[in-house]
Amino acid sequence: MLIIMKLDASRGDVERVKEKITALGYVPHEIPGDHRLAIGITGNKNRPDAELFLTLPGVLEAVPISKPFKLVSRDVKSENTTIRFRNHVVGGRELTLIAGPCSVESRQQIVDTACTLKELGIKFLRGGAYKPRTSPYSFQGHKADALQYLQEARTVSGLHIVTEVKDTETLPMVAECADILQIGARNMQNYSLLEAVGNLRKPVLLKRGLSATVEELLMAAEYILNGGNYDVILCERGIRTFETSTRNTLDLNSIPVIKKLSHLPIIVDPSHGVGVWDAVPAMSLAAIAAGADGLIIEVHPEPSLALSDGYQSLKPSKLKPLLSKLSKLAVIMDRTLTMKKELLEEAETV
Ligand code: PEP
Ligand code: MN
Repeated sequence: MLIIMKLDASRGDVERVKEKITALGYVPHEIPGDHRLAIGITGNKNRPDAELFLTLPGVLEAVPISKPFKLVSRDVKSENTTIRFRNHVVGGRELTLIAGPCSVESRQQIVDTACTLKELGIKFLRGGAYKPRTSPYSFQGHKADALQYLQEARTVSGLHIVTEVKDTETLPMVAECADILQIGARNMQNYSLLEAVGNLRKPVLLKRGLSATVEELLMAAEYILNGGNYDVILCERGIRTFETSTRNTLDLNSIPVIKKLSHLPIIVDPSHGVGVWDAVPAMSLAAIAAGADGLIIEVHPEPSLALSDGYQSLKPSKLKPLLSKLSKLAVIMDRTLTMKKELLEEAETV
């Protein structure tokens, strides 16, 4: 249920409603909007009696939410969620670009890549420290050492760090390093992990599970918001289908569908979505055309030597012309992608 407050409701009115919700054994969630404030109720097994709230001062309406997901739903919050960083707003007009290697392989690799990406105007660096791999014999990440290298890359470049958290045991260490905590496809329904990041106040990038429906993705995000962490970015990274010519099938249908259902920002991972580097630019452009708020792209200085996902990683030299095309597409999509003028000119001559 959603309690919608009157425009002139006072702080005291809001607090009284929240106290009432808590006294009933439920959880209140304050949801500020551009025009009005609403208070979501979760933790209730049955629909609460609307009369209990309608009699309180400052309350305009009590609206039942029929969808299985509540806090992530547009029914609860019609405005897009935006997440603020020092120099960027995720979910705002400017497209969000996250780039970097699949795995952090060495101090030099990640620091150099961060500096190269910074030159290209990228603000978010990705790089896995803890890698959940299909095979136990594949590279599992440099773990704590890699977190240290990521911190150094941030200090040197000023880029924000996006790195995956694999389990609740390592969450405190990873959360200390990450500016955005990535939850990978294989962990989308790891409910202990979802609850644990829900209790933090740090943005989360939640990737769609390998075989998860849009509704399952939104329900997974609901776990995080239910814990009081409202800064969730969804990520479409391809799903498993009968098609074997590509690593996954990048489900770009999900973008307009999710935009209608949810106020959360959604970005696309074309690298895992398609699995081959030369198809990444096309799918990046398609993702933005579909209405995505940004991209997370694997970029490696020497893809043939990468310890994971080299075949789907772009060289920085291939990222440049893509950025130039994205900045043109951004205009059509009523978005922006700020690029250095020299870079734009240089990319045009490639
Ligand atoms: C990754 O981002 O490197 C990764 C493992 O992605 P996913 O969880 O989408 O497979
Ligand atoms: Mn990868």
